[in-house]
Amino acid sequence: MSYSKEDIIRMVKEEDVEFIRLQFTDIFGQLKNVAITASQIEKAVNDQIMFDGSSIEGFVRIDESDQYLYPDLDSFAIFPWRPSHGRVARLICDVHDPDGKPFVGDPRHVLKRALKRAEEMGFDAFNVGPEAEFFLFQTDDEGKPTTRTNDEAGYFDLGPLDHGEGTRREICMALEQMGFEIEASHHEVAQGQHEIDFKYADALRTADNIMTFKLAVKTLAQKNGLHATFMPKPIFGINGSGMHTNMSLFQGGKNAFYDPDDPKGLSKEAYSFIAGLLAHVKGMAAVTNPLVNSYKRLVPGYEAPCYLAWSASNRSALIRIPAARGQSTRVELRSPDPACNPYLELALCLAAGLDGIEKGLTPPPEVTENIFDMNAAARKAHGIDSLPDSLEEAIHALEADPLVLDTLGEHVAANYIEGKRKEWEEYCTRVSSWEREKYIINY
Ligand code: GLN
Ligand code: MG
Ligand code: MG
Ligand code: MG
Repeated sequence: MSYSKEDIIRMVKEEDVEFIRLQFTDIFGQLKNVAITASQIEKAVNDQIMFDGSSIEGFVRIDESDQYLYPDLDSFAIFPWRPSHGRVARLICDVHDPDGKPFVGDPRHVLKRALKRAEEMGFDAFNVGPEAEFFLFQTDDEGKPTTRTNDEAGYFDLGPLDHGEGTRREICMALEQMGFEIEASHHEVAQGQHEIDFKYADALRTADNIMTFKLAVKTLAQKNGLHATFMPKPIFGINGSGMHTNMSLFQGGKNAFYDPDDPKGLSKEAYSFIAGLLAHVKGMAAVTNPLVNSYKRLVPGYEAPCYLAWSASNRSALIRIPAARGQSTRVELRSPDPACNPYLELALCLAAGLDGIEKGLTPPPEVTENIFDMNAAARKAHGIDSLPDSLEEAIHALEADPLVLDTLGEHVAANYIEGKRKEWEEYCTRVSSWEREKYIINY
């Protein structure tokens, strides 16, 4: 879709749109918006809507707080779940400073900068397809989330076991009305856990789509009296939620990861991209796995990765190469979780992969055995390193990786690290229910 300012103004009128939500994402991945009425649409498409950036976490200080929203016109979409009279539309925006320059703290700008780098290296597209998993929980009488899942079903189960069918169906239909192509929708392994996959797109559109997806899932779950969460590990002892990220680079319209002459069908660029990811994945973890809780998903036994290895088949590996070749050849990174900021996540994945290509890195040999069956000594013999064990370790790894710091830029890196450190300190000083259960009687 490619819209002009006139198209937007016309659609607002013709489609009976009363409110337009101007959206952007803060550095911690929270969707933000300001609603304007249809009367202000001309101002909006001419980049004249201002807001106070000092109230957005990690954005700007109070003495330099005026910022402008520049809508990406192609992101125009109507929310199907809002009334059909006086409808509600949205535009995803870039954040700019009063002097017209892109705001360095805008995550969308961070991704655009990384994409520019790919373009300079001769790649015309970085395509990404995400697989975001989530849980549906029952709510209590006040509408607050409980920890009771909405069903007891498992992988690929269907109704009447799967109680999420109806809600997933509504989510899929709403997203299709917003222009998504839904490829798959299914119950996941854990009780109350679900996955909906939509078609890949270039990284910027995909990051926008992930934000829209999360909003649609949460909104439609709520309409069905449920609470949807993208929290990575809501329940101990069962699978957590990941956001596997499938990536490919294109050059001259062709998939640059495919080489029919290679025994595995992978190009030199693909191997180097994998090597780049492996080299930086620890430094990226504080972004790809942003919460204290993220590290409770990355433990052995729940289909989530913990060790740094790649494989063309083995699902225990951090990086897997799905079987498809030709134009569909892709690298799947399995560590990210859906709580991450997708703009920053994709910027880092791309920068890491490109670093591998630029330096001509080669990955270690593919690991074909189940890594979860290896003990520490066997892993050491294979030279297999691990992901950070905690948010604290991840923050240290981020601080030690110049490429990650550089890709985020000084502003985002400093504010992100500060925010995450606070989160970790808060967690460490709180007394948890686990501690009470464990200690209060015996001591
Ligand atoms: N839920 C698993 C994870 O945490 C993935 C399971 C799957 O998609 N096969 O990554
Ligand atoms: Mg999947
Ligand atoms: Mg899955
Ligand atoms: Mg997958």
